[in-house]
Amino acid sequence: MIGQGICGTFMYRYLADAGYTVLVIDEARNNSASKVAAGVINPVTGRRIVKTWLIDEVMPFALQEYKKLGNEFNISAVQEMSIVEFLPTPQIRESFLKKISEDSQYIAVPEDSTRWQEFFNYDFGFGEISPALLVNLPLILDTYRDNMRRCNNLLEEKFEIENLIITGDHLTYKDIKSTALIFCDGISSGGNRFFRDLPFAPNKGEAVLVEVNDLPANHIYKKGFTLVPWKNNIFWLGANYLWEFDTDIPTPGFYRFAENWLKQTLKLPFKIVDHLAGIRPATLERRPFVGFHPVYKNIGLFNGMGTKGCSLAPFFARQFVEFIKYGTAVYKEADIKRFSGILSRLK
Ligand SMILES: Cc1cc2nc3c(=O)[nH]c(=O)nc-3n(C[C@H](O)[C@H](O)[C@H](O)COP(=O)(O)OP(=O)(O)OC[C@H]3O[C@@H](n4cnc5c(N)ncnc54)[C@H](O)[C@@H]3O)c2cc1C
Repeated sequence: MIGQGICGTFMYRYLADAGYTVLVIDEARNNSASKVAAGVINPVTGRRIVKTWLIDEVMPFALQEYKKLGNEFNISAVQEMSIVEFLPTPQIRESFLKKISEDSQYIAVPEDSTRWQEFFNYDFGFGEISPALLVNLPLILDTYRDNMRRCNNLLEEKFEIENLIITGDHLTYKDIKSTALIFCDGISSGGNRFFRDLPFAPNKGEAVLVEVNDLPANHIYKKGFTLVPWKNNIFWLGANYLWEFDTDIPTPGFYRFAENWLKQTLKLPFKIVDHLAGIRPATLERRPFVGFHPVYKNIGLFNGMGTKGCSLAPFFARQFVEFIKYGTAVYKEADIKRFSGILSRLK
């Protein structure tokens, strides 16, 4: 398998549980999407506050699986946490209230709108999104990396596709022989010769890490940007969404936006201590890519989680591994079979 972001980690976990022997090749990169992500699973999205795709299925499954993982390794992998969404205009407050009257499963407007005035500037009250989840990605990735190292299942280097030799059902990479290869390598898959014709739509995002003392770390706060408890008195603040970008590195423009947001929104002193940027492996139709290549049947892809890796990766990794072991179907919206035509044209 190539890649140990959140996708590679869950694929490895479920494949190993299913009895397969797995070697992961991962070149440690500090700016991979999973290293930069906040780790939030938010059940609703956008101005119209619509439920995110499959959330009623994927969120309970994610909670169960992260808890299980946390218990096994004795780490705090996930927390249930509500999102405090400051309503930026009277119109948005109206649409929030209207939405609640239609479906209040995940949203509410508390009676006391002054609750957060000690900490934040806001004029039109706030809504609460609950339950939401906060996944501790850095801890999960590090814990699994150590585990893979201990089991001798990790090769920490760059995978170079030119060195892959396909002979019938068998694959050889340098001195490694295997029966299958699954790419969980985030945005790199968009450039590889097997999958480059899929409609990838990489999306850049930036965030800053901010030191803030005395801000309760048991909520996620949202006002355009999202302020997320990270560790101790450090909060993650982000992100933007760019379809067009020249570099994958942090930019001064975003830093200024973030600094202004903090000055205007937060009533507490703050200090920006780090600045991160990463590229989300997003897809044009906002659906994952899961499955094996129609021509090279032992070359697979687990990718395209876009902005929702924390919720979609456990769910679809489980489906993919059950497909590998038992032949059960992957949801058709995520199965790369939908692109068989395009992929079969590849030489
Ligand atoms: C700013 C930002 C904020 C985000 N916030 C959230 C959030 O709050 N909640 C959420 O659910 N999602 C969030 N996301 C999206 C989330 O990060 C992605 O959906 C998810 O991390 C994708 O995981 P992945 O494993 O597919 O890819 P990656 O995390 O990119 O992992 C790919 C791995 O493959 C390795 N690799 C690549 N090429 C090679 C090679 N040739 N050889 C060896 N190794 C290789 C990389 O080093 C990396 O370790 C955010 C993304 C960004 C950028």
